[in-house]
Amino acid sequence: MNYSFEYGTRTITFDLAYKKRKTIEIGIIPPDKVYAIAPIGTQEDIVLGKVKSKANWIIKKLFSFKDMEYLHINREFVNGESFMYLGRNYSLQIIKDASIKRAEVKIYRGKFYVTAPKVNEDIIKSAMEKWYREKTLEKVEERIKYYEPMLNKSPNGIGAKEQKKRWASCTPANKLYFNWRCVMAPSPVLDYIIVHEMCHMFYKNHSQQFWDMVAAVLPDYAGRKEWLKNYGVRMDL
Ligand SMILES: [Zn+2]
Repeated sequence: MNYSFEYGTRTITFDLAYKKRKTIEIGIIPPDKVYAIAPIGTQEDIVLGKVKSKANWIIKKLFSFKDMEYLHINREFVNGESFMYLGRNYSLQIIKDASIKRAEVKIYRGKFYVTAPKVNEDIIKSAMEKWYREKTLEKVEERIKYYEPMLNKSPNGIGAKEQKKRWASCTPANKLYFNWRCVMAPSPVLDYIIVHEMCHMFYKNHSQQFWDMVAAVLPDYAGRKEWLKNYGVRMDL
């Protein structure tokens, strides 16, 4: 159910759902969906009051998501910034170690550790990009193996590379290339990107036959595709 209220010169609209839970949760799905989830039986004006009390925070958030849509994510590569891997956020921890030659990257207990001989944005960024590239290739290879028996066809090569405007591509010779950022997506979304590209080995277009083939492997592909459309913008360094 949708509710609206005025806050300053703005109208805030939010979607209210009731669930079996103890507290009222208020959140935003980027870029602009505000929602509240309340315990079953909570009176509407109590929820409304709670959302109103968060109005300032909501407006700020909406503005920051709006910025993200039009501008690129502005990173500084400093401690505490969050980075996505398989749809989860990991907070960056930079460790300076002058005794090592090359920066090392690893994920451990919810954190993204980058150990580097020197701490500067370029070094941290390129170490992370390299890590994402390796992980993307690793995951993509693993998942292509999983889907191969279903499609009964193997690509003639798999790579991870820089692709500015696409998540993946399929060459006329059926080599599949994946954007190195792919592994930032949640696994189901990553699988969609993979299956989509594998189906291009059969159809080099987006015809109905192509989509039927995607649907035969992933009947729920529409939601995964939607995720990519909405949040793909956040999949970057
Ligand atoms: Zn396509």
